[in-house]
Amino acid sequence: MRNKYDIIVIGGGHAGAEAAWAASRLGASTALVTLDPTRIGQMSCNPAIGGLAKGQMVREIDALGGLMGIATDNTGIQFRMLNRSKGPAVWGPRAQADKYKYAVEVQRLLSTCPNLDILNGEVSEILTDDSKAVRGVTLANGARIGCRAIIVTTGTFLRALMHTGEKKTEGGRVGEGAARGLSGCLAKLGLELGRLKTGTPPRIKKESIDFSKFDEQLGDDEPAPFSHLNEYQPRKNWAPPLQQVSCWIGATNQTIHDIIRANLHRAPMYSGQIQSTGPRYCPSIEDKVVRFADKPSHHIFLEPEGLDTNEIYCNGISTSLPADVQEQMIRLVPGLERAEILRYGYAVEYDMVWPTQIRSTLETKAIRGLFLAGQINGTSGYEEAAAQGLIAGVNATRDLREDSSDFVLGRDEAYMGVLVDDLVTKPPTEPYRMFTSRAEHRLHLRNDNADERLTPIGREIGLVDDSRWAQFENRRQQIEDGIALLRATRVEGVTASDWLRRSESDWTKLAEKLPEARAVEPSIARLIEVRVKYEGYIARQDRQIEKFAKMESKLIPASIDYATVVGLRNEAKQKLSTFTPRSLGQALRISGITPADITLIAIHLDKKR
Ligand SMILES: Cc1cc2nc3c(=O)[nH]c(=O)nc-3n(C[C@H](O)[C@H](O)[C@H](O)COP(=O)(O)OP(=O)(O)OC[C@H]3O[C@@H](n4cnc5c(N)ncnc54)[C@H](O)[C@@H]3O)c2cc1C
Repeated sequence: MRNKYDIIVIGGGHAGAEAAWAASRLGASTALVTLDPTRIGQMSCNPAIGGLAKGQMVREIDALGGLMGIATDNTGIQFRMLNRSKGPAVWGPRAQADKYKYAVEVQRLLSTCPNLDILNGEVSEILTDDSKAVRGVTLANGARIGCRAIIVTTGTFLRALMHTGEKKTEGGRVGEGAARGLSGCLAKLGLELGRLKTGTPPRIKKESIDFSKFDEQLGDDEPAPFSHLNEYQPRKNWAPPLQQVSCWIGATNQTIHDIIRANLHRAPMYSGQIQSTGPRYCPSIEDKVVRFADKPSHHIFLEPEGLDTNEIYCNGISTSLPADVQEQMIRLVPGLERAEILRYGYAVEYDMVWPTQIRSTLETKAIRGLFLAGQINGTSGYEEAAAQGLIAGVNATRDLREDSSDFVLGRDEAYMGVLVDDLVTKPPTEPYRMFTSRAEHRLHLRNDNADERLTPIGREIGLVDDSRWAQFENRRQQIEDGIALLRATRVEGVTASDWLRRSESDWTKLAEKLPEARAVEPSIARLIEVRVKYEGYIARQDRQIEKFAKMESKLIPASIDYATVVGLRNEAKQKLSTFTPRSLGQALRISGITPADITLIAIHLDKKR
């Protein structure tokens, strides 16, 4: 078989789109083969991009030259910076997107890629040669296509089974089928598969909602774009191109919880119908009612799915309870008394590949040229998928070149680095979601400096073109000029940087005293302010990280009570109590325990001493 393409990307979700974008723009002749090309870029669940830690990842993807930030800016219908009341390290940009326009925009962006063909089909087999290197794929219709590398991004579709109550339907997403053949082929190639589940809430008809009984949630007055390309323009020149809308907040109540409890035996998670594990951090409403039995209510966020649709997404009440129970519980929510459900919530179970079988390049250890990215690696979420897609796209392309070197981001460089490192060292026992708490260097991994951290790397890998690079350099110069100005100018007897470092100072107050500060572009001013204010913390964090390397030999007393370790995540408390590691180094090697957890225990032990 002749090589028709350099790279075949299987799947057109968020991982597949980013992989195809990167590979084709790096010059690899690429085919994206997917079950339904009109669904490329579709948001299977929540019509939103970003959020805590996830927003940072979108900014990183953008700085490296990916597409997710651009698509979000062009189709966002509400932009909010989450966690603004906390330190800037944990600010998380989030945008509600028009989910239909988002998918169309991803498809438009892909249509601009040179070297990229979009093919409609189901890949049922991966072809390899005697040396265990990929040679091509076979489609379900029998057609064979040759290639030199393959990126599998099949998401929730492998042997996918959807559950709503007792009803089971084959398919990876409502209205779509499942991919049946590929799982068996991956297993034959020697890969060990697992099975996970995720779920989605009901969608409600907009006109049937009494919004007066909900609290309105507006977007930010000054929306911040995800893409640095938009940020390079003076802020006043960027406004979201689409009309901006409100979201709404309501709550469940005890009567609803009673109905859920009374019907738990019909919930696939509790009846035994679903055996696989779901995302602990994105629990279904039935899970919440059981696990947090003493909570009188849970939030429901009503989020529009787009400007030209009357579908409202009910964030917070993902469920796989039977349709009749969903009807009952929805109507008991104040404001939803007359609600019409357009689509019932459901859970989906799917096959994944344990990511201990991949390298940090996302290439499988077993088969040369076979890369895996996205939900197939046990992750959950669009951003996690897109991040892996980009990494796999770059590495697959490099693999084709004789002088190939690996594209691997460090844990200190990017959340994307943390993500991959976690996947390959600690197999996820549930769909893996990114959190700021997973990153021990999170003071460095901010959304405001993603550009500084990663655009030079994007340039090096070849995804940042000359025009973008020139804009980046211009911005970098402006930042340096701003910092030099603060060092060289005095305010009230001290340097402007020392003045700004005071807790009661901020850039707005500085600008009242220093006319030159007024001229600095707001996004640059914010970056300089963060850098100046947190200089000491960042230096301290660096020292802690160094100390952490020596922790292998530090013993943990058997009498430690993990429940009393301040700030430790519940997951870590559970695992450490079960494993009772003898040293900090050993604790770190337990899957699910992060360096951030170890730092908290070390601080706890230091205090005890
Ligand atoms: C019901 C549901 C609920 C979810 N809930 C959440 C949630 O609460 N929180 C969260 O963070 N994430 C959630 N997700 C997950 C989120 O949708 C995924 O994380 C994300 O879409 C994964 O992206 P991906 O690119 O890996 O795969 P997907 O977006 O699933 O895309 C997979 C692509 O592969 C194609 N494909 C599959 N098999 C083949 C084949 N053999 N041949 C050709 N093409 C193939 C499909 O057509 C599709 O285009 C949910 C998903 C679903 C379906």
